[in-house]
Amino acid sequence: MTPVKPLPQYLVTRYHGWKATTFAENHAWYRRLADEGQRPRAMVISCCDSRVHVTSIFGADQGEFFIHRNIANLVPPHEPDGNQHGTSAAIEFAVTALKVTHLIVMGHSLCGGVKGCYDMCSGNAPELEEKSSFVGRWMDLLRPGFERLPEGTDAERQTLLEYEAVKTSLDNLMTFPFVREAVEADRLSLHGCHNDIAEGGLKMLDPRTGVFEAV
Ligand SMILES: [Zn+2]
Repeated sequence: MTPVKPLPQYLVTRYHGWKATTFAENHAWYRRLADEGQRPRAMVISCCDSRVHVTSIFGADQGEFFIHRNIANLVPPHEPDGNQHGTSAAIEFAVTALKVTHLIVMGHSLCGGVKGCYDMCSGNAPELEEKSSFVGRWMDLLRPGFERLPEGTDAERQTLLEYEAVKTSLDNLMTFPFVREAVEADRLSLHGCHNDIAEGGLKMLDPRTGVFEAV
């Protein structure tokens, strides 16, 4: 058998605290979510980074957001090749089964995945070039974004590459036929955002200018 262990005690303690307070106070809401099923209005694709907390910054409750997280909030292109595609499966379910009306790609500042891509493309991360590096091969999705970066300091260019990650994901979303159809039929809106961790900032991609502007 797989060598699993009991949860650490601090998590068990916290769980019991939640059950006795937040859950107890909102039991009817949880019961309703269970009885009626989920009907989230929005899907969010954000980074695995523990500092990115979309439910907090939008004040979202259970049942509101269908969330998929991966390294650097990237969406791969539509590749119906019969292999396992976790991100694509989540998008397919959200759009075709849950029929979400909003799909938000949420980038963030100081993204380690984006920095890895930046270092790799700059020739400073040979370990990410290895075929066996899952992070490196995943971040290959953002190589074209790196090629588009203008001159600037490393810090400026890394922020711009975080924006490129969001734009790349939005472009790739439109390669999924069911996404394109829903967008063209005005049943689904795509949104690009970027969260500044230190300042609590939120920027939104302006479709007219292609620039991220403060909300
Ligand atoms: Zn990240």
